[in-house]
Amino acid sequence: MKVHLRFGMHRDVKLIHDEKDRIDGLVVPAHILAHQSASTSVFVTSLAEKPYIIDPMTFVFQNAKEAHLNDVGGMRSSIEKLCGAYHDKLAERIMTLGPDGFMAPDVFSESDEFCEKVAGFQAEQVGKASAMSGASKYLKRYGTTQVTAPRAVIPPYFRFSSVGDEWYPLSLTCATLTRQMGGDIEVAPVICCATSALNDTDIKTIVGDYAEFGRVFLWIDGYVQTSVTSSNITRVRSLIKGLSAAGVESEALYGGYLLIMSFLDGMSALSHGILYTQHKSTDLVPGSGGAPERYYIPAIHEFRSLSQTDQIIHQHQELICDCPVCEEVLGGDPDKIILFGDDPDLLRRHFLHCRRREADGITTSSPEAEAKRLRQVFKKYHDSFRTLPNPDAFVSSSKMQGLEYLNEWADAFEGS
Ligand SMILES: [Zn+2]
Repeated sequence: MKVHLRFGMHRDVKLIHDEKDRIDGLVVPAHILAHQSASTSVFVTSLAEKPYIIDPMTFVFQNAKEAHLNDVGGMRSSIEKLCGAYHDKLAERIMTLGPDGFMAPDVFSESDEFCEKVAGFQAEQVGKASAMSGASKYLKRYGTTQVTAPRAVIPPYFRFSSVGDEWYPLSLTCATLTRQMGGDIEVAPVICCATSALNDTDIKTIVGDYAEFGRVFLWIDGYVQTSVTSSNITRVRSLIKGLSAAGVESEALYGGYLLIMSFLDGMSALSHGILYTQHKSTDLVPGSGGAPERYYIPAIHEFRSLSQTDQIIHQHQELICDCPVCEEVLGGDPDKIILFGDDPDLLRRHFLHCRRREADGITTSSPEAEAKRLRQVFKKYHDSFRTLPNPDAFVSSSKMQGLEYLNEWADAFEGS
């Protein structure tokens, strides 16, 4: 299964270069490319052998006006740049909304020009920005001048709460219009909805509507792998299997191990940031919050704070990771976990090694084998994890107190 890294912070550039063998490609959010054009383009071009896509981030226009504003009430500059790139009247329409106002879909009703601009931005921006004065010296440093096109163009997309929601046909229209424009690059739409939108009838409609595309990206809004129920996992699997049966390749725009397991349902790739965005909600402001410093524990397919990891690997030394990074830093000694706190880049490198192993490992597994293993891990470690002191806000949801989520996953995959 392919792993695509969602680019978030320029401070990670060196690390991504060092660990590039762990990843298959890149996802670049459009607001970052619009805001830091030259440096982001140079980064993309410097990894010319890695295919990339640009996420047009059009769902942000569904957020309340407040989300687009900076501290002094003006428009945040990354949003302003996106608006400028996509639509003549968009910035003005946002600023004339009431304080709690939301944009109506009708803003985009004459979609042709909007679709053309969104697609054009993706197809051309890296090339344009790489030609900026300032960019050339960095390109020379990396020894590349070859600008490559994205592997796919993503039409404007919006979150829908059911197929009866007016944002659903708008996204579908944008996808169809973009495809009709032709061009050499594959057009791959994003299907963005919550699990609540995925009943059997709606899944059939979605699969039918998107069957003309060879590839789609799935973003299940707020699909938190540690708190999702087995019945919701089953819904998402049905969508993936339905698309696959219709000849549509699907990739997850955000995902963790739960969606890696859907390789077994026909999903071909997933993307995420280095220590964050294994799931994402559409109503979060892009770029808000930094990545927490936490350690990925491969056996439980989740992160824990360093203090919890410290306790758990002292209790269960067999949980000490044996990836090349951990071999070097820990060498089997749980006391050395503290060294990860001194150098958080080690947390990132370790995670990328673990993710590569997971993505490779799933290709020779089966739903039965996964379910069996998850239940074994639950049985062996649940009590230890459940009784850990829990000082971290991010592990406050009930299923993260212990390892119940692994049983939910097993329930959803067992026998299917
Ligand atoms: Zn490791």
